[in-house]
Amino acid sequence: MKLETDEKVINYIRKRVAAARNIVAVLGIEMLVEGGGYDLDSNEETYRAEELYGYTPEDMLSTSFYNAKVERFYRFYKNEILSMEVRPTPAYDALLRLQAQGKLSAVISQNFHGIPQGIHFGNVIELNGNMNSNKCTHCNKVFDIQYMKKAPGIPLCDKCNTAVRPNIRLIGERVDAKTMTAAANACEAADVLLIMGKNMYNDRLEYNTDPNRSQLKVLFTKEKHLSDRRVDFVIHDEIQLFLPAIV
Ligand SMILES: [Zn+2]
Repeated sequence: MKLETDEKVINYIRKRVAAARNIVAVLGIEMLVEGGGYDLDSNEETYRAEELYGYTPEDMLSTSFYNAKVERFYRFYKNEILSMEVRPTPAYDALLRLQAQGKLSAVISQNFHGIPQGIHFGNVIELNGNMNSNKCTHCNKVFDIQYMKKAPGIPLCDKCNTAVRPNIRLIGERVDAKTMTAAANACEAADVLLIMGKNMYNDRLEYNTDPNRSQLKVLFTKEKHLSDRRVDFVIHDEIQLFLPAIV
């Protein structure tokens, strides 16, 4: 398949990646979608969820919703999030090549689905938690994702019968301060920042770097009309086609 990005731009980014010593990848929603997941924050998904559950995904993934309507939360969470199968794509292979070259200093994930099975990065910073990890809010007993999938209705702790909560960041909660600092420091130190899609939390941590620093920022997005002056390039090609072409 042919890339639609101008060849000059591709060559320029390839050169910068080749010369870089410190590359940071921010895994956003586009990485999830290309791996077979879906963007719950998109207009279609928001509409579909509202029709089906009476609330938007943004409403249902909030702390207040979890606290007030845990049964409804789990109906949505189990149907729409736990059932999502996310596969690795060639974009991950390209990132692994950068890691093998000693250039990939951090992978910052804004998705709470975890890194696909079989892919191992040395330094993963998960800003919004990981749904593979679940905990009883009363006794702190830990449960795996299979336990969550198999439980009928609300997954309850087998020790104290309290609802088990996924270790994901719900909307309205802050990112853990240590995690946020690690992510911000990694972004700040990067020569090349690859931002793979927007995210529903709008953290924008990747834009907080010093404007006088020579850092190449590349944003991948399928939104054709999005222009973002805080990045050097906005790429509309699929990440899984583009990254292997520049690494
Ligand atoms: Zn418990």
